[in-house]
Amino acid sequence: MKTTRIITLSIVSLLLFSTNIIAGEKWLQGYKKVLVIGAHPDDPESMCAGTMLKLKDMGAEVVAVYLTSGEAGIVGKTHEQARTIRQAEAKKACDMLGVRAIFLTQIDGNAEVNKERYAEMKELIETEQPDMVITHWPIDSHRDHRVCSILVYDAWRMTGRNFDLYYSEVMTGMQTQNFTPALWVDITSYRDKKIQAYLCHESQELEGAVKEYHDTMERMRGMECQAKYAEAFVQQLWK
Ligand SMILES: [Zn+2]
Repeated sequence: MKTTRIITLSIVSLLLFSTNIIAGEKWLQGYKKVLVIGAHPDDPESMCAGTMLKLKDMGAEVVAVYLTSGEAGIVGKTHEQARTIRQAEAKKACDMLGVRAIFLTQIDGNAEVNKERYAEMKELIETEQPDMVITHWPIDSHRDHRVCSILVYDAWRMTGRNFDLYYSEVMTGMQTQNFTPALWVDITSYRDKKIQAYLCHESQELEGAVKEYHDTMERMRGMECQAKYAEAFVQQLWK
């Protein structure tokens, strides 16, 4: 009897697990307000613009948050000039996705972790009251990405862990490292728009990154969940 029950439960769990992987989106249901917090203009789009579009279609309000404004990201431009250009590009991308943009006050290439920066991220969460936040996976070759992830994790803890926190990848193979996803979203029907929004960051000349990274990453994640293109995530579970 006991063995039968165990076998039955195992089969049910397996079926549920498979369904979750194939359907891929059940875990997305029910969210009302989603913040996608990236270190630089283009990071939220790079991480999960497909999922952002899908969440919007599922009824969620979606906001892209930029920790810095990419001040160090244009050769030959001052920080002020680059900030103006890159904020305009980010706004264009957000308009295309139909999401709101928020710019925090950190500086590209020099993102800090200190009491004031922890407080800034906590204040953002308290003001926006999301029920879901997506940010960088914390192991990443870019310092600003690591800083962004740790600030969001801290804000999650300091605001009572009352939103669901997910991590995602950017340019795996160059930036995100040691990322083994547990959740997938089929973005096949949103993929063209994702790439269009990503390419709004014209100053970054991202056509090469689409070919070299996004084509491979999104197809690889798609192969993992029986979709043509997918984005993948890990949920923060330990409270
Ligand atoms: Zn970045």
